[in-house]
Amino acid sequence: MSEASTPTRTNSQRSPAERLATPVTFVKGVGPQRAELLERLGLRTAADLLFNFPRDYQDLADLCPIANLEEDKLQSVRGTVEEVDIRGSGVGKSVIGVLVRQDRHYLRGIWFNMPYMADRFKRGQAVLFSGLPRLKGGRWEMSHPRVQWIDPEEGKEPGGELLPVYSLTEGIKQSHLRKILRQAVETYADLVEERFAETFLAAHHLQSIGVTLRQIHFPQSRADLQQARRRLIYQEMLVLQLGLALRRNLQNTRQLAPSMPATAQIDARITRLFPFPLTPDQRQSIGEIAADMARPMPMNRLLQGDVGCGKTIVAVYAMLLAVAHGAQAAMMAPTEVLARQHLRTFTKLLENSRVRLALLSGGLSAKERQETLQKLAAGEIDLVIGTQAILYGDAQFKQLGLVVIDEQHKFGVRQRATLKQAGADPHYLVMTATPIPRTVAMTLYGDLDVSTIAAAPPGRQPLKTYLVEGENRVKWWDFFRNQLRTGRQGYVIVPLVEESEHVETANLEATFEELANNELEAFRLGLVHGRMTAEEKDHALHDFAAGVTQVLVATSVVEVGIDVPNATLMTILGADRFGLAQLHQMRGRVSRGKFPGYCCVFADDPSEEATKRLTALVETTDGFKLAEADFQLRGPGELLGTRQHGLPPFHLADLKRDAAIVSEARDDARKLVAEDPGLAKPEHVKLRKLVLSKYGSALDLGDVG
Ligand code: ADP
Ligand code: MG
Repeated sequence: MSEASTPTRTNSQRSPAERLATPVTFVKGVGPQRAELLERLGLRTAADLLFNFPRDYQDLADLCPIANLEEDKLQSVRGTVEEVDIRGSGVGKSVIGVLVRQDRHYLRGIWFNMPYMADRFKRGQAVLFSGLPRLKGGRWEMSHPRVQWIDPEEGKEPGGELLPVYSLTEGIKQSHLRKILRQAVETYADLVEERFAETFLAAHHLQSIGVTLRQIHFPQSRADLQQARRRLIYQEMLVLQLGLALRRNLQNTRQLAPSMPATAQIDARITRLFPFPLTPDQRQSIGEIAADMARPMPMNRLLQGDVGCGKTIVAVYAMLLAVAHGAQAAMMAPTEVLARQHLRTFTKLLENSRVRLALLSGGLSAKERQETLQKLAAGEIDLVIGTQAILYGDAQFKQLGLVVIDEQHKFGVRQRATLKQAGADPHYLVMTATPIPRTVAMTLYGDLDVSTIAAAPPGRQPLKTYLVEGENRVKWWDFFRNQLRTGRQGYVIVPLVEESEHVETANLEATFEELANNELEAFRLGLVHGRMTAEEKDHALHDFAAGVTQVLVATSVVEVGIDVPNATLMTILGADRFGLAQLHQMRGRVSRGKFPGYCCVFADDPSEEATKRLTALVETTDGFKLAEADFQLRGPGELLGTRQHGLPPFHLADLKRDAAIVSEARDDARKLVAEDPGLAKPEHVKLRKLVLSKYGSALDLGDVG
């Protein structure tokens, strides 16, 4: 390849793929020095350049003549640098002024304490300032505007008014990169292989990849840009959806899972153990799960339902169903605290049964761990609960029939794939309390079937949330104490203030002292934080659950899953530091029993966005509505963190904005895979290659082609 990509051979001797692999240094206008800078942007080959899409566009038609500027409104101005002046010197005092001329009108950009800005401008340069203009003594000024240096020729050609704006690195200017890209697009865009058959393009009203690449970099109009974006986003989403559809198909055709039907007798034996009647939603979910497990192919089901709606008991049912058929079941929890809580719950539920339970987690001694592993392998344990230790450890099961993952949003797609191989294709149930918008669900869990618990168990009391400021805090603490005196319990959540856990703990302990000496002086307080050992944490939670302590002062370790129905009070300090989903999870701790729950959030100095979040939290207790609100406020970024979910990041697609394309791509992908399950037809081969190269490992598609 390296030989092929040296420019000594003529272009006609090289294949399009080889030419696209040309190192950037040989692209016209680049050279070794710029190549090094481009490398920093991850751009090594001509193809990299083509697929380095603009992060934005500057619409020259949108520019504002200086004569028409309005104060304090975000505007962009184009002009020529007339003069650069420096007042004061050194960091801390200097003011740089750059005077820009546009015909007879002037605007000054100013920078405080950024003396190096002076070297960035030269007289006569064409520049574009974006910012908030102000009139100072009858003259226009813009403080710390965003600057673009432009080529005087740019935008002069007809229809070329939308200029691409690329991500930059020190030493490369926007105008350089544009020139390089113009060259790259000219020379290489038509060499990129078309992955779609022509009939497919026509049927879906998509442009060819060559045209698309031209238009995404140098659109002739907004409409052209739209077309290009649509094609690229559609392709991105289709490829992912094909990956998910292939994965689904693979799982459905392996046919290796044990068939475990829920006979009337088994059903009666299981439900007899439950301390309460199941709700219709729980029944329905159980029915769907049992139907899946009766089939000789692995179940892949997501059980979703808001915090506190009662997912655990559904999982217990599924696990006992596996055990009734002589198989083993494993449940994975995201934290040790939660794993141990599940152990306690299950131990109680299974008191009068012969089911053998064990915990497998990081907190065990080497000896305990060894013993448990041995019993698991020998089939002397029916049901194991644990943390990732099961996942990454060397756990061998005698016959693993079912895996349950609690709080799935804490695990990634790839981790699911890894665990899959732990046993001989068990059934699979994943549970999440984080309600997610439809398009996100389609994307993250596109390969799963979904059951939903919509309504909480009967008898739930309402949950009230308050955003309390100033003196009202005193009133809240009064209320808090009164409730404690009537026998209820409560949490106080302290946010992670510093990156370092050390400081976090110090902060938590300081708050604890403060509460113990003031607001909550007369009460029994417990403390739990991330630096404690698993044992210590468990102890603190156990004491709290048993009522030994009345108030638990904690970091967000109690965020997920903790179930102490007598706890009805929650104070969240520094609530502006938490995300909406997290706040909702925490609040879910105090609406789990027969008493009404009260959650109070304190915010020290909330930003506008934080205020919106907290207002949304106060206004709605419905997790699904909140998820939508969160999605609107924040976008899907965090939900789709690639580290969290093990998927490569999206280039262009935005699940919020592009919801319609996501749906379309999903439907098309399912259709395609139904028609051609291995994507083996000649017209699909290129597409299959693309899917495998992008998602093959993330989605564990090893067996496809
Ligand atoms: P989550 O869905 O958040 O995991 P849990 O499974 O922890 O919720 O259930 C929350 C609380 O509701 C628990 O205390 C549980 O015992 C109780 N619960 C669950 N199902 C029912 C039911 N059908 N009737 C009464 N209480 C129930
Ligand atoms: Mg739970």
